[in-house]
Amino acid sequence: MSTVLFSKTFVAKINTILRRFWWAGIQEEQDTSPIAYRSWDDICKPKEQGGLGIRDMEMVNKSLIIHSAWNVATNKNLFLTAILKAKYYPNHSFWTAPVNGSRSVYWSSVLQVKDQLAANSKYQLHAGNSSIWSSPWTPVWDNIHDHILLPVVTCPLPNKVCDLWNPGTHGWNHQLLSSTFLEEAVNIIQATPVVTSDRDDLLRWTPANNGQCTTKSVYTHLANQQKSKSIPPLLKTFAWRLIKRAIATGARAGKYSKHIDKHCSYCGAIEDDQHLFLKCAFSIQVWSSTDPPIQPNTFPPEIDGLQMFLSLMITPNPSDDLLFKTLFILWFLIPSPTTLQGCRCYIDASTQPDNTNSVPYRAGLGIFLVNTQVHPPHSIFIRAALQQCSSVLMAEAAALALAAQISNNLYLHHITILSDNQQLVHFMNGPDLDNLPDWRIKPLTHMADIAIR
Ligand SMILES: [Zn+2]
Repeated sequence: MSTVLFSKTFVAKINTILRRFWWAGIQEEQDTSPIAYRSWDDICKPKEQGGLGIRDMEMVNKSLIIHSAWNVATNKNLFLTAILKAKYYPNHSFWTAPVNGSRSVYWSSVLQVKDQLAANSKYQLHAGNSSIWSSPWTPVWDNIHDHILLPVVTCPLPNKVCDLWNPGTHGWNHQLLSSTFLEEAVNIIQATPVVTSDRDDLLRWTPANNGQCTTKSVYTHLANQQKSKSIPPLLKTFAWRLIKRAIATGARAGKYSKHIDKHCSYCGAIEDDQHLFLKCAFSIQVWSSTDPPIQPNTFPPEIDGLQMFLSLMITPNPSDDLLFKTLFILWFLIPSPTTLQGCRCYIDASTQPDNTNSVPYRAGLGIFLVNTQVHPPHSIFIRAALQQCSSVLMAEAAALALAAQISNNLYLHHITILSDNQQLVHFMNGPDLDNLPDWRIKPLTHMADIAIR
């Protein structure tokens, strides 16, 4: 299992044998399948999540191979590495070894997991003896050749990372970097941390706190990846449109119809991708209220689209949470500025997930009010807390009630309140305000109803 990456079909067969044994024990004469009262996935979940912690064979197999590939990359077994190098990548590093040509089952297995290993490994720079061109030492290493400044004036090109340092120091040689690489890469390289020591650079397994790649740490990483929530289809489609420059901004849609205003409804500037998502005063305020705050003004300007911004925000290995959050904020910024006139009020709540037997807890409420009926537009950002909250719905309803009260007190009319809680939106827009989705939120919806109407 540690030398061959098995096919999914083969692993499925092993799982079948395990599952049968688990449900029915050894049944030599009988080969009908026993009834499984729980799914195998459920049984394989860790104990903390209510499973039995039985290891998933496919992930075990993959972890063993990744660990084995790590041993080759770090030269654990000099003899084995020497043979593999001579046979399969005499003129390359392990990281840039060619993937074509005939190869053994073992080497083929290693090649299949190499990308995953590279995505989760990087050299911690000490003496700077890693190759600039063929080892993972900076986020842009794998396409570093695309970042060379043309025409090439540096001759000969530096070879090791320490060649990019001022002689005798561990500090980046800005002049050399700027004359060798494009500005974007220079910024990324200069942000790469360096340890001031003379030992060889160390390969680190980035998902583990101690940087060590063990079969167990790989398995944990793979299992976490699998359990992390997947991005909803809505955001996937949105991300695709964003990358392909297909978001209906004023500037883009205005090319197709003269009835569509090219200007931002918030500030009156031309509304292109850059403006809508990053440069508009409205977007700047939204980003500054994220945790940690982001200052989109510090990102380099782009001619069209947000490619660079996305690559800075989302590489090299974003957690699903970060990806989800970034996409969600971007998505949040689109529909309303282009379609809604008048006052907009965004509400949101941050709480723990619903849990039937939990005691009442504290929830955070956020309200962002924008009034575009006056020039320049006014905006107010309010953070509040709800004590004794007992569900997500209640927290959302409290944010709504507070928003309604505030807009009422400010004499704001024709206000559109935007919430991401579908249940609450349906209820408030529905005909029957007595038929509540949860009786406990009645005081809040009642308050909101009075204030809005
Ligand atoms: Zn604007």
